[in-house]
Amino acid sequence: MNKSSFSREGQVVTPEIQALPKAELHRHLELCMRPSTIRELAPQFGIELPDKESFQQRFVILEPMQDLGAVLNKFLDTQKLLASEEILERLAFEACEDAFKNENIHLLELRYAPTFIHQGHPHLSFAKIHSAICRGLDRARKQYPIEVGLICILQRILAYKDNELVTEFAIENADTFLGLDLADNEVGFDCKPFAPLFARAKAAGLGITVHSGEADVPEAAQYVRDAIECLGAERIGHGVQIYRDPEVMKLVKERGVTLELCPTSNWLTNAIPNLKEHPFKILMDSGLKVTINTDDPVIFNTDLNWEYQLLQRHLGLSLKELAECSEQARRSSFLTREN
Ligand SMILES: [Zn+2]
Repeated sequence: MNKSSFSREGQVVTPEIQALPKAELHRHLELCMRPSTIRELAPQFGIELPDKESFQQRFVILEPMQDLGAVLNKFLDTQKLLASEEILERLAFEACEDAFKNENIHLLELRYAPTFIHQGHPHLSFAKIHSAICRGLDRARKQYPIEVGLICILQRILAYKDNELVTEFAIENADTFLGLDLADNEVGFDCKPFAPLFARAKAAGLGITVHSGEADVPEAAQYVRDAIECLGAERIGHGVQIYRDPEVMKLVKERGVTLELCPTSNWLTNAIPNLKEHPFKILMDSGLKVTINTDDPVIFNTDLNWEYQLLQRHLGLSLKELAECSEQARRSSFLTREN
């Protein structure tokens, strides 16, 4: 099969999927800037985007990545744009507006890494970044009937002491952060040293979700086990590879851990060979709590409607099953849980 047939380019979503009320748990705020806003802002930062092609070439991944360097450059170009409080507020507001108006999302968890924005723009403190984002969310809540909350991301590629500062920041702002996450490539970056930080966050009432079991490597399922047993993960970002390991599947089921699955992301990062072979249905039919997510919608040229459409088209999920996945996302959300 031609790999491009999994791409959203030029494809339409059925009215039934569009009309389904949706909830999403796994979406990186830094990578949801509205394309028209990117094109408007980019020239200020020395990035000329005269047409759609130049925008796509610079900011979007349309085919499974061959070259990690090219992908990292797209992340760095996006980082360049997150340069002021005004822009961050706009980013947050527009992310919610687009989710509600375009995707019929009524409950949305957005996550971001304070360190990622701060590294690109050292004049922006964590406090300034966070307040600007919160202002954007507040504006959206006033204008649209959308429930929205934030997750704070630790980066496993950073030193413990840097992540400790971020954890303290998240705990100080536990009224505006729902949870704590650990992101970045886990191969070669063991999660276990961060266990004390996650224990502190949990004690402060934050929800715990961990990026794990994403890349197709032999240790993938073990990483998920570690995230659950050592970090107390209630949800796993991806976890897509555990279908090969019955013991870890059993653990995930027994603990009631929710999987935040992101099909297009998995295809574009080569976590799975193609969407027809995505183990979504295996995980769902095993009775695990599965949810559908976009991960990085703009850079992956997707949205939640399109993820639903792909699962219907390539894995045969019925509209009822898709609605159930959305309901599961609502039930597993840190916004709706009772403390
Ligand atoms: Zn992610």
